[in-house]
Amino acid sequence: MNFNNLMEHVFAGRWIAGTTVEEAMKSAKRFNNKGIKAIINYLGEDISNQTAVDNTMDVYLRLIRFIKNYGASADISVKPTQIGLSISEQEAMANYSKLVKEVRTSSIFLWLDMEGEPTVDSTIKMYLSEVQNGGIGICMQAYLKRTESDIQRIAKVGGIIRLVKGAYSSSKSKSFTSREEVTRNYSKLMQVAYEQYTEFTIATHDIEMVKKSLELNKKYKRKVTYAMLKGIRNKLLVQLEKENKVSVYVPFGEQWISYSYRRLKEAGHLKLVLKSLFERQGV
Ligand SMILES: Cc1cc2nc3c(=O)[nH]c(=O)nc-3n(C[C@H](O)[C@H](O)[C@H](O)COP(=O)(O)OP(=O)(O)OC[C@H]3O[C@@H](n4cnc5c(N)ncnc54)[C@H](O)[C@@H]3O)c2cc1C
Repeated sequence: MNFNNLMEHVFAGRWIAGTTVEEAMKSAKRFNNKGIKAIINYLGEDISNQTAVDNTMDVYLRLIRFIKNYGASADISVKPTQIGLSISEQEAMANYSKLVKEVRTSSIFLWLDMEGEPTVDSTIKMYLSEVQNGGIGICMQAYLKRTESDIQRIAKVGGIIRLVKGAYSSSKSKSFTSREEVTRNYSKLMQVAYEQYTEFTIATHDIEMVKKSLELNKKYKRKVTYAMLKGIRNKLLVQLEKENKVSVYVPFGEQWISYSYRRLKEAGHLKLVLKSLFERQGV
């Protein structure tokens, strides 16, 4: 086994479901058996080749059929730059509309992942073009200074958000750059979400943020879901499931390197990585 195969093997078992739709289904079903809903993402981003975009669309359409046929409890999460945004906004909008139509006929919830700052305007535009009939959500990133006003705007049209800290970086003028500032803003945006939304997802592994949200649940009667990435703090998800709705983000596909690199960077140091890779997580 060469280094690449070894890394794939290690990550495939922990952070990624595998490379095929069938493996994603099996992973989703394992989580479902613990009362945890899956949010399935086909790995890939920044695709500027039309054939590759078309292939990605085919995988998502197949995934929708599989979720329905397997009777899995699963949402789908799509990155705008994997369905055409790196070619043109028009291409991405057309593909997004196609997916929205398909998920609606199958009663599957569709999320739009949020990527780097230059893609935010187009991603929100895509989302708003379909928001009126429901069944779709959009990710919002606390590291961006603009996000508070984006969240307020999306609340006004009855949208659904998934609040994350953000896996990208941007300039100091547009973003919070220290972990402390991002966390402070996450806390502030969470408060805004409780005030302005009836339904949203808290997507973080930050225990302090989860605790704060559990406190806010006592004051506001909201439909809150807690979501974490496959392989990170999944024991906590199992605990949260006893009294809350919970989801796990399950990526699959061949393009696992950039996703795994982001997770490695976030883990910060070797001890955390080893802990997340080898700890028994209960799922
Ligand atoms: C369901 C879900 C969907 C997401 N969707 C998007 C998206 O569309 N766009 C986007 O930009 N980002 C997305 N993210 C990623 C997110 O933005 C963060 O990059 C990631 O969740 C880490 O931030 P944190 O909130 O866990 O806080 P952090 O402050 O980074 O971490 C809090 C604690 O969690 C633990 N932890 C965090 N990461 C790791 C790790 N890799 N290994 C081991 N322990 C770890 C550590 O103990 C850490 O101290 C998503 C995250 C989740 C959970």
